[in-house]
Amino acid sequence: MDFGPLNNLSISVEKQGPTQISKASFPLRYGKYSEIKTSEYEFLFNLNGEIKFIRGLNVNWPHPAEQLKRTDGNDWVYYSVGDDSSENGINSWLGEYYLPCLPYPSNSIWEVNYLANPNIMNAFAGWPQLYANLYGGTSGGIHSKAKDLINLILNNDESVLYERSEKLRSIIGGRVSVLPPDTRHVDYEIIPITVADGCLYHCKFCCVKSGNKFHARSKTDILEQIRQLMAFYGRNLENYNAFFLGNHDALQAGAELIYFTASEASRVFGFEKPGVKTPMLFLFGSVDSLLTSENELFEKLSHLPTYTYINIGFESIDSPTLAFIRKPVDITKVRDAFQKMLEINAIYTNVEITGNFLMGEQLSRDHYQSLIELLRDIPDPLRRKGAIYLSPLMDSPKKRELLPQFIEIKNQSRLPVYIYLIQRL
Ligand code: SF4
Repeated sequence: MDFGPLNNLSISVEKQGPTQISKASFPLRYGKYSEIKTSEYEFLFNLNGEIKFIRGLNVNWPHPAEQLKRTDGNDWVYYSVGDDSSENGINSWLGEYYLPCLPYPSNSIWEVNYLANPNIMNAFAGWPQLYANLYGGTSGGIHSKAKDLINLILNNDESVLYERSEKLRSIIGGRVSVLPPDTRHVDYEIIPITVADGCLYHCKFCCVKSGNKFHARSKTDILEQIRQLMAFYGRNLENYNAFFLGNHDALQAGAELIYFTASEASRVFGFEKPGVKTPMLFLFGSVDSLLTSENELFEKLSHLPTYTYINIGFESIDSPTLAFIRKPVDITKVRDAFQKMLEINAIYTNVEITGNFLMGEQLSRDHYQSLIELLRDIPDPLRRKGAIYLSPLMDSPKKRELLPQFIEIKNQSRLPVYIYLIQRL
């Protein structure tokens, strides 16, 4: 329903985009949302009236496909299309049409200093300006639905949005410090549920670990999270069709707990309803948790209504490199786990295991050579399932120095290869 210009605002109370998030070179709108346009900016809100996207409309905005996106963790991420739209550009590096520029330290190989661009920073001023203008918008003869939307938006000022992100953290017991790379397929729009805290290895190089020993949550705890998440997402729940089982090694929680959580969450969140596009389930695993996972787990996952991505941190297939990064696994296990990944990807059509390896100037030629050989010598990968993600070490240079190395690996791999940027929720 569109109410046309109103005090220089154009308000669309509810719009319907595609229900499934897909990849496009322009800002795709998905699910149900509200939109307010001024002459300068387009503001999008989710069904709870929370600001979600801001895009500039004037000639000074860097690119019509670029925008600011607010995450459920209350971070503003700038989506840049970069300066290379060729097939060797961003899409080839990330598998997406944009580079997420993050407002916190990450491992990007190419940093765009969007905070130094006054035209982008002006958008941050445009949002409180709109908010102030909306205060006067509820008086006078405006349609009741527009009035309801404005009141909903006014209920979600900066402090409320911050409190809600804190509330999300308190429900799941902490911040999600890193999302699996596969969550790019749903634009990182996931509902997080913590099934286990900590991890097995506490590797020296890792900047996202919690320091906790691995510990699975109880079923009671998980059910309580799901109950509170239902209330937290409220009406906007219908815009999600993906969830993430946290934290750093949910696979180690075992078949029963994973299946219990995934089936309960699918049921409660309405992911099993007919007509809902294939929901997605994401989790991390480790070399050891993958090796010890019985076939029973993958059988069970294959009977869920979801398409499941399990992302494994392999890091390296070179012993001195594993010692250098202080990851306490040996290369025989890494090789066996990699082989198991290929086998599972070949057997189960709706379960996909992907893998992470490291990149960095500090890493040896042997690390890269052994990785190239591993990826080059894969026998006939089925449907190219099982993307490989290369994750730059945190202190890597951020001016594309790693790209030639990345391209060399990508060109020789029989599996798709992309760069993995650490993004939190
Ligand atoms: S890389 Fe994975 S296993 Fe190693 S410390 Fe980080 S979270 Fe834990």
